[in-house]
Amino acid sequence: MIKTNFHTHTYYCDGKDSPEEMVLAAIDKGFTSIGFSSHSYLEKDAQYVMSRESAEKYRNEIHTLKEKYKDKIKIFCGIEQDYYSQTPTDVYDYVIGSVHNILKNGEFLIVDGSVDEMTRQLECYYQNDFDAFAEDYFSLIKDVVVKTNADIIGHFDLVLKNCERIPYKPTKRFLTAAERAVKELVKYQKPFEINTGAMARGYRTAPYPLPEILKMIYENNGSIIFSSDCHDKSKLDFGFDVSKPLALEIGFKKQAIITENKIEYVDII
Ligand SMILES: [Zn+2]
Ligand SMILES: [Zn+2]
Repeated sequence: MIKTNFHTHTYYCDGKDSPEEMVLAAIDKGFTSIGFSSHSYLEKDAQYVMSRESAEKYRNEIHTLKEKYKDKIKIFCGIEQDYYSQTPTDVYDYVIGSVHNILKNGEFLIVDGSVDEMTRQLECYYQNDFDAFAEDYFSLIKDVVVKTNADIIGHFDLVLKNCERIPYKPTKRFLTAAERAVKELVKYQKPFEINTGAMARGYRTAPYPLPEILKMIYENNGSIIFSSDCHDKSKLDFGFDVSKPLALEIGFKKQAIITENKIEYVDII
């Protein structure tokens, strides 16, 4: 499997390490390329995102590293653009489009918050109907490519972050809402992530999205890209030993990678 990861966070947002530390770790692991994807600025939920002021510094620093390490690794400067972000994306090499919030009755609900936060939101806004929460989420993510100009669809079923701990088992209603969004999104021919970020942080034992959803993506001629949504340089390839066989078992033969031509597809080997 080609060693690469285009979904990584540094201390410019909620990651732990500097961009250079991440680059050195990637070189150490034998990566051929690495992409940075800081969280886009979001006024309503500013704790974990990159500030407006530091975005330019971030781009300059990645471009300096690009030059410095050009003989060792290809480096790309991307952004994880939130559904509700307004900041421009055309200054980046590529865009991951993600939904982290749902605007509900004037409150900005958190899709990937703690179990306590999720429980509170379900009680206050959904009468404990998780499927209704998921339906709202999928109705947003189905438009994520249009809203964010995404090249990559981020953690498609992020709403299941806490499903092993709440616990919640996806129902037919949940899967119907997911399939509606898959069918809309495949039209844009952008890869869906197989994202091991929640495994790396101990929230889940399996990647996003569910195998049933991966099957839907495959059956609707969608494509995939591997990532670990990395917030810690030691986790750059975390869980790839799980996601690769999973993708092959579903039937995928190719994985997307970012190149100078934006997206290319290579064999999963
Ligand atoms: Zn995200
Ligand atoms: Zn991320």
